[in-house]
Parts: sequence; structure tokens; C-alpha cells
Amino acid sequence: MANKIEKFYADLLSIKDPWIVAGVDQNMDMKEVTIRVTYDRPDGTYKCPVCGRSATLHDIKEQTIRYLDTCEMKTYLMVKCPRVMCLMCNIQLVTFQLLNAKDVAKQRLDSYLNEKLADAWDMSAWEFYTYLLEQAKKHPLVTTGYASMAYKADKKEALNNYNAAHPDL
Ligand SMILES: [Zn+2]
Repeated sequence: MANKIEKFYADLLSIKDPWIVAGVDQNMDMKEVTIRVTYDRPDGTYKCPVCGRSATLHDIKEQTIRYLDTCEMKTYLMVKCPRVMCLMCNIQLVTFQLLNAKDVAKQRLDSYLNEKLADAWDMSAWEFYTYLLEQAKKHPLVTTGYASMAYKADKKEALNNYNAAHPDL
């Protein structure tokens, strides 16, 4: 993964070993980007996805996935999935698992915070942390459900105001 653009998309889509971004093809006229993903086993060792025994490469199956747009570009993943020959399970496809957007976002926030807090001092992380603290103080969580006390009070007030404005109801 020598190029910056490959690393960028690997990070963006959370593509991890043994899968790698082998290349990125951009078509600016079509506003499309195709990310080529391969299963990287330079030593030629494969494992059966069913039983975990070592297996041999049978062939490669190509799969195209339409992903969420990135930077307003239609984004496709062209994934080369190996099919392996296992002595016990016969031919098996090694499937490519893409994290959903929510999990990718969670992972990115996690690693962002870890990176920032690992630095001796980082203003933006500190500001973010104090912001969270302030929010937590402002809206203490109730133990039942996810509604905050402030939210409940707002709702009650809104209901009272509504009832006062509509005494005939
Ligand atoms: Zn097997």
C-alpha cells in the first residue's frame, strides 16, 4: 500500500489485513471511483473459511459492491475474493466483510480520540472532552431510557403550555 490514495481509502472504509486496497481508479468525468480490494497472501497460505484448516487457492471471484458516496463520487468496491480448496469442505469462498457506516464511524472516533489523547497535549481533543463533560452535566441521564432530565422537563413544560392554550380540550 504505497500510495497515499490507497491508504486514504483503506482508512476510510476500515479495510484491514489480510484485505488490502490494491488500487484506486478515479473517473472524474463520470464522478466515479472504484476501489480495488484484494486478499493479500504473498506467502500463498490460505485457510478454509469454514473449518480453518489450511487450504489451497482454487480461483478468484470478483464482486462489485456499490458503497456510500465518498467526496460526492459514486463509490464502488471491486473485490477479488479467493475461493479455496479444502480437503474437508471442498471449494469455499472467502467472503469480504465490509463494516457498516455506523461501525466505521465508531472505530474512527475511537482511534481519533486515542491518537489525540496519546499526544502530550491537544487542544481540539481537550475542547471536545470538556464539551462532552458540559453536555453530560447539562443533561443528566435518567436510568430509564435515553431521555435526559432536561428533555423530560422541556416536554412537560410544552405539554402544560399546550393545555393552557387549549383549555377546552
Ligand atoms: Zn474446510
